[in-house]
Amino acid sequence: MANSVKCKNCGEWNTIEGSEKQKCSNCGEVIQDPTKERLEKIKKYKQEQLDKWMFTIKDDDSAVVKFGKKTGNITYIVIMSIVGFFAWLAAVLPL
Ligand SMILES: [Zn+2]
Repeated sequence: MANSVKCKNCGEWNTIEGSEKQKCSNCGEVIQDPTKERLEKIKKYKQEQLDKWMFTIKDDDSAVVKFGKKTGNITYIVIMSIVGFFAWLAAVLPL
């Protein structure tokens, strides 16, 4: 799908096709697809959230730490499932 993007440097309109980075036909500045830019921001934000999350497994973690984090993740999911179940139960039961 072709996309028209305005060059940040000179204001020239350029047509962007595909996901590859293109240069402005007028001044040679790299043109960023706004949609792609936004997606990258979301990706970065998600990564930041994952980094903050204490049980996110990193490549440089030792086997013990990885195991501990996996256990932590599973425990968290189990607890959230139970909490969710009781929340659902409380909503369904005519108390
Ligand atoms: Zn330009």
